Amino acid sequence: MRRKLNRYHPIQMRNSRHKLEILFDRSVSFYILDELRKHPAVEEGGKYIGYIFEPGNPSLQKFEVNSRDPAIVITDFLPGGPKAVRTAVEFMPDGEYQDALFRRAEELDPAIEHLGTWHSHHANGLQTLSPGDVEGYFRTVNKAHYRPDLFLASLVKHIPINPESPDWIDHFLFVRGADEYYLATGHIRVIDWPTIFGIQTGHSQQHRRVVTSSSATNAAEVLRERPSSVWYETEEGRSALAEDRRFFREQFDSNVIATRRDSQITLTGQTAYKAISVTYPRNPGDKEIAISVQQHGVAILHIHCELSYRKISFTAALAAAQYQLAVDCSSSSSIKLPSTSRANHSSSSSSAVGG
Ligand SMILES: [Zn+2]
Repeated sequence: MRRKLNRYHPIQMRNSRHKLEILFDRSVSFYILDELRKHPAVEEGGKYIGYIFEPGNPSLQKFEVNSRDPAIVITDFLPGGPKAVRTAVEFMPDGEYQDALFRRAEELDPAIEHLGTWHSHHANGLQTLSPGDVEGYFRTVNKAHYRPDLFLASLVKHIPINPESPDWIDHFLFVRGADEYYLATGHIRVIDWPTIFGIQTGHSQQHRRVVTSSSATNAAEVLRERPSSVWYETEEGRSALAEDRRFFREQFDSNVIATRRDSQITLTGQTAYKAISVTYPRNPGDKEIAISVQQHGVAILHIHCELSYRKISFTAALAAAQYQLAVDCSSSSSIKLPSTSRANHSSSSSSAVGG
């Protein structure tokens, strides 16, 4: 009986044996409030999407997270959708719509994960998750086809006047196999990691409201309405990004991330000591890309080149990174290449450096 009662009351995250860094892009709370304003009298919600990182992943170095713990970064969410059921006491998302959006997001970045959900009780004043909410989240995190071992559930208690006031939303962590769940509200860190899925979700600054769940009647229509006003959404952009991501993964294993600044995508592959990043065109029709090689955080090479000749520049960038690495290796033996990189490229890298 006691166990049953505890099941509906969260334990403080700091008392949990599960350690996790939870990072949110700064804009996510504004996007949540945008959705709530569309449906002020009923419950609303969305599916969080983002990334999972192993402890010590170099992509997170600049955020000064604890390198002993895994981390999640939530960059966006899939809106509830046009056929969601919304009442003052219930929210049921439009699953077909969210699945279609998620597949689009996955095409753009296969590393994307569904990491949880948020919903609101602002219309009924309930300040906690309902027993039904809690049971549902326990079920979801333990499903075989749900990939991650954790699920973050956020609850909007009321619509704040100031979105930066901390008390309007609570966050709860559910962990696969655990019989309890955790209050993570004080554990959240806000960072800048803008979504690259803004055209799909309707959440990027300049594409805000181009695609909204209320302006379209079904998933197919939403996808048809998608404009290709930015390079990375064009056919050329999508195939170049997919191709380069495969290439980077061969070099850097899973340490490859895509970030967006305004409407430009940058793909970065890195180890603890070196990074190569490629910044792609902004507008459809633009052809120039910029490549930068960094060593210990210092840029050692910049290359500008035509998109169609980028492979030549990648070779130069890799040679520069390897050269620098060879110099470092002579003074230190602690540097390690990712295993696939070593296996696949040892012969080409040694010949590049040997001359
Ligand atoms: Zn609820």
